[in-house]
Amino acid sequence: MNIILLGPPGAGKGTQAQRIEAGKNMKQLSTGDMLRAAIAAGTPIGLKAKDTMARGELVPDDIVVGIISDRIEDADCAAGFILDGFPRNVSQAEALDVMLAEKGLELDAVVEIKVNDGILINRIEKRAAETEGGPRADDNAEALKKRLDVYHAQTAPLIEYYATKGTLRSVDGMADMDEVARQIMEVLNG
Ligand code: ADP
Repeated sequence: MNIILLGPPGAGKGTQAQRIEAGKNMKQLSTGDMLRAAIAAGTPIGLKAKDTMARGELVPDDIVVGIISDRIEDADCAAGFILDGFPRNVSQAEALDVMLAEKGLELDAVVEIKVNDGILINRIEKRAAETEGGPRADDNAEALKKRLDVYHAQTAPLIEYYATKGTLRSVDGMADMDEVARQIMEVLNG
């Protein structure tokens, strides 16, 4: 089974992706994690992405589309993958449609983790206070605010994109983590 987890920063996509990975034979593919690994390793992609990411802006589409296109062909994705943080705008979603068709793969569901803005801003401010100066250069109040703005402007239109295609399923991201996980499993088990 191949799915997308869609939702704003602070919605808990990463946590839920790890739970799904543990409970199902599916591989979490987080473009954010992959970009951070590229930065840590000092690769050309890492060098290109570093400053943009630290500001909370999106890195160029061709970089993430290339990473995902290569990665979903790996053997550990054959039983299924969970896209976490990709696609993040309509042009990435269109590129994903093309690459899946070319590879003979299909998306089974797009799971939207719904969280309202008031709660997000609280979570984000808390996370910034806890993690400022930590391993993520983009976990400061300014970059987190920027990531939320980018989400609304560029990523939120994907909700409509996948609703139109009929693949969208929504879960309540304001419930506690176990309840969110339960709702996602319900979606995945049909
Ligand atoms: P979060 O969901 O908390 O914002 P991520 O780890 O998913 O965190 O992403 C961190 C940063 O990595 C983004 O702000 C962006 O700069 C970059 N990034 C991750 N995925 C993509 C993508 N699909 N397209 C462009 N940039 C991306």
